[in-house]
Parts: sequence; C-alpha cells; structure tokens
Amino acid sequence: MKQSNLFTKTSKDVPADEVSRNAEFLIRGGFVHKEMAGVFSYLPLGLRVLRKVENIIREEMNKVGGQEVLMSSFQPKENWEKTGRWEAMDDLYKVSDSSGREVALGPTHEEIVVPILKNYISSHKDFLEKKPLALYQIQNKFRMELRAKSGMLRGREFIMKDMYSFHTNEEDFEDFYEKMKEVYKTIFKRVGIGHLTYLTFASGGTFSKYSHEFQTISSSGEDTIFLNSEKDFAVNKEVVELGNLDILKELGFDEKNKLSEHKAIEVGNIFDLKTKYSKPFDFSYTDQKGDKHIVLMGCYGIGLSRLIGTVVEVLSDDKGIIWPESIAPFAVHLLVLGEDEKVKKQALQVYESLTKSGVEVLFDDRSGISPGEKFADSDLLGIPIRAVVSARSMKDSSVEAGGGIEVKRRNEEKGKIISLKELLIQIVPKALSR
Ligand code: ATP
Ligand code: MG
Repeated sequence: MKQSNLFTKTSKDVPADEVSRNAEFLIRGGFVHKEMAGVFSYLPLGLRVLRKVENIIREEMNKVGGQEVLMSSFQPKENWEKTGRWEAMDDLYKVSDSSGREVALGPTHEEIVVPILKNYISSHKDFLEKKPLALYQIQNKFRMELRAKSGMLRGREFIMKDMYSFHTNEEDFEDFYEKMKEVYKTIFKRVGIGHLTYLTFASGGTFSKYSHEFQTISSSGEDTIFLNSEKDFAVNKEVVELGNLDILKELGFDEKNKLSEHKAIEVGNIFDLKTKYSKPFDFSYTDQKGDKHIVLMGCYGIGLSRLIGTVVEVLSDDKGIIWPESIAPFAVHLLVLGEDEKVKKQALQVYESLTKSGVEVLFDDRSGISPGEKFADSDLLGIPIRAVVSARSMKDSSVEAGGGIEVKRRNEEKGKIISLKELLIQIVPKALSR
C-alpha cells in the first residue's frame, strides 16, 4: 500500500487523559481513534494488526477442536436474573428501549451460551459424538469499567475471545483444561510476548481452589505477581493475600529467594466453572442408565485489544512501537527519500517487486516530507523492516548498477545496503511464512 493513499496520518497529539504508552503510540500512529474513555475505533493500520491477532487465536482454537460462533451482544434480562448476575454484576451495562424493556449488553456470554447448548444437547451420546464440545467467539464486550485510563488495556468496549467447554466428567474437563494451558502458551509465543508471559495461579472464586491467569510482565500492569522463574510459573499477589497456602507450597513460596515480584498485565485466563452456570439453566444430560447430571463447564478468555495494548507496552522504545513480525500491519516499510526522479523510479520498482512476491509493503512515497519526518514516522509505526531508497543508497559501491537499498530492522541501530535481489532472498520466504 502506498502511504500517500493511506487515509490516516501520524500525529503528535494525544488526548490529555491518555497517559499510557500504548494509547500514545497507537493513537499517534493512527492505528486507533479514541471515542471516549475506554472506547476505541480501529483504523486501517490497527485493523490489520487486530486481524492478524484474531487469525492466530482462531487457528489455535480450531486446532483443539473449538467451533467458532458469534453470539449476540444484546442479552435477555431473564437469563441474567436466572444466574443472579442482573443484580450482582456491578459493571453490567443495562439498556432499555422506548417501551421500557431492559436488556444486558454482553460483558461475557455464559448466560447466552448455556441456553443455546441446552437446546441441542441432552444425552451422554451428544457428548460422545461431539468431542470436544467447545464453542468460541471473537467479539466486542461491554463493561462499565471505573478505571478506563490505560488505553487498550482496560476498555469499556473491548474485543475478547471467549471459549466455553462442556463436559460430562471431571477427567474430561481436566484433560481439555490442560490442553488449553498449552494452547494459550503457544498463542502468546506466536504474538511475540511468550518470553514475558507466565502461567499464574490466581484466586478461583467460590467454586474451585484456583484459576489460571496468563500474566505478561510489564511496569504498566495493574496486577502484581510473584514469579518462580525456575519452575516457569507465577502466583498472583491477591492469592497470597487470601492466604491460599496450598498454592504457596506448590510454588515453593517458603523458599523466598526463588521468587521475584513483578507488575504484570493479565492477558488471558482459564477457569473451571464446574456447574456454576449450567445449574441455573438446568443444563443436564442423561447417562447410560437414564440418570440425570448437570453438565460441567470451563471458560477460557483472551482480551485481544488488551493483548495489542500489551504488545505495545512491552515491545516499544521511546520512538515508537516494535511490532513482532507475526502481527505487524506490514512486513516492510519502504521509504523513498528526496524528489529525484531516478530514485523515485528505483523505489517504485522495489515496491512492485516486493508486492508481486506477496510481501506486505507500506510504501512511503509521500513527496514534500523530509527524511527526518519519514524516519520518525517509520519508528513510530514500528514495521519490522525498514527499506530506504535514496540517492545515497543507490550510489553505494558495494551494490552494482546503482541498485542499493538501505535495510534496517526496527530493533537495530544500523542498517546495511543491499541489492533488490538480496532483499527478495532475505525477506520473501520469511514474509510469506508469517
Ligand atoms: P480484570 O481483572 O483485568 O478486570 P477480568 O478478570 O475481569 O479481568 P475476564 O472477565 O476473565 O477478565 O475476561 C477475560 C479476558 O478479557 C481477561 O483476561 C483480559 O485479557 C480481557 N479483559 C477483561 N476486561 C477487559 C477490559 N476491560 N478491557 C480489555 N480487556 C479486558
Ligand atoms: Mg474485570
């Protein structure tokens, strides 16, 4: 894509109440537009990143046998009354129409998914035929968050992947739950934050001993975790405060020297729901003997918008974002410097060759913009590879026939001048495999 054609521009302005690094860079880079506290629209660059994150998550959910659905955002009040959450959930958006009829604006989907399942599943045979029985969706959620001050990390409208699994026995549940732990690790690795993200024991609520969160170490995190790096997992400080001593022992908490304290962002969590939501809807099945049992459930969430914000928080420098290749909006940022016709022609040829080979290129072909401004924009947008065509690069004697391109990774200080042929050899196979 030619940057002269991209409708967004970078800017120097950030809304006064947005203090987080992720909001600053994503807004200034033109990835998102802030509508109100905790509410953002995705613009072309931001949507490209979101789609890549979605596809990685979708691939991994499909691998474990999840089936994708898209449930409604409007949710019947009656369902929420059944689970007791119409009154109990204090961040629930309740909206009413002109006749006074009230509905909930979905903050999560247990109240929708259980009645759907109940409509189709009633016998143990239904479970055996559909193994695993797990539905997921990627969708906007609505929560009346009080603290919506950290950009994409805490939205009032935000995008979540939520999966719900259904089981006839504990063993089957445990089996799937363990698989999901591994799948989550794979997802965080694939989006580039695996090295900073830890499986973390968290409070399990009323029904189970603990749940598991995936926490990414970041100074901008709201949570505090104690990390046991030897064992590769962590415990949320809130659990320690609750005095859940079993977990502490399991984590070697008595051997204090092995644990370090960190601020962290919860990018995902997995939960044993037992019969908490199936029971209120009497979602049950009959076994071989004809006896009735309530269905067991697990749920598995990842906040995609929070994940994108987290990547920006932890993979950036003072100049801007440093996108991992897997979710970058483009693979290559090609810059042409100066107004010389020969240089422009060469840059256009590089653009066309890369594009023809299937590489996603953002081509900064804008005229009347100084090299300094182009470099600053490129650092802000954070595309992994910057390729510059200029009079200087073309004059370089190490490349024949004036075809030099200065190539630099976003996380490197210095670039290297190479030929188009070399660039194609270096970039194309990697770009196509991402
Ligand atoms: P938190 O403790 O941060 O409020 P939560 O326990 O309410 O999170 P869940 O309801 O389990 O979160 O939602 C699943 C996932 O959705 C979380 O792990 C997180 O990644 C994401 N998420 C939750 N709330 C928000 C929000 N307000 N904005 C963006 N993402 C969110
Ligand atoms: Mg919450």
